[in-house]
Amino acid sequence: MGITIAIDGYSSCGKSTLAKALAAKLNYAYIDSGAMYRCVTLHCIQRGIIKDGIFLTEEVVKTLPAIHLSFQFNLKTKFNESFLNNKNVEKDIRSLEVAASASSISTIREVRIQMVKLQRKMGENKSVVMDGRDIGTAVFPNAELKLFMTADTDIRIQRRLNELKLRGDKISFAEVKKNLLDRDYQDTHRKESPLIRSADAIVLDNSEMDTEEQLRFALQLANERIKNIKEEKINQ
Ligand code: C5P
Repeated sequence: MGITIAIDGYSSCGKSTLAKALAAKLNYAYIDSGAMYRCVTLHCIQRGIIKDGIFLTEEVVKTLPAIHLSFQFNLKTKFNESFLNNKNVEKDIRSLEVAASASSISTIREVRIQMVKLQRKMGENKSVVMDGRDIGTAVFPNAELKLFMTADTDIRIQRRLNELKLRGDKISFAEVKKNLLDRDYQDTHRKESPLIRSADAIVLDNSEMDTEEQLRFALQLANERIKNIKEEKINQ
């Protein structure tokens, strides 16, 4: 039987890179919970509910029943892609505009209730790696392995800048910095499920680590947990 692995942390810490690689190694499902908040945000932008980053909470709540979210596995890239009302929006949800409003949208209680319900359903069979802000604290508080990722702020900004430039976005270090710091602030200060380290989460500061080192670190922990759980079951 597989375990549940929760990866939380600040924006642009490399959570999804690690979560994807770990899931691939363990043959687990990878679920990007942030993509769900981004999809809700994109839907609201497309419907004109968010204009210049401003919205009315009641209008967001009212449109929730019109949002159908799903993931589909892309055989070429070997990763799940996000679908909003049956349309592939994987590229659209990664823009800075969506990122900027996603943190505000994710403060809405009704949005979180709906997303958490979906996330629990997606992870109900275990053998899952899910990354986000509240996975180890609110979505799966009993996850067998919890990681809390962090990294030096300038390093995180540079990583996000490189990512956005690769997409062809013309953006400056200062713009990315503002977006990242705003999101960190909002995520750690909101009333509903703020980003905090769960007491039983293992901290992974990857400022000085490459992706291979991070994967080795996480894989070793995961394999230890899986082995311990198997032994506990045998001894029961
Ligand atoms: O992880 P990502 O940057 O794609 O998430 C987009 C936004 O969604 C975050 O800025 C955060 O505010 C929100 N989020 C959240 N809870 C999660 C995952 C993401 O509030 N579990």
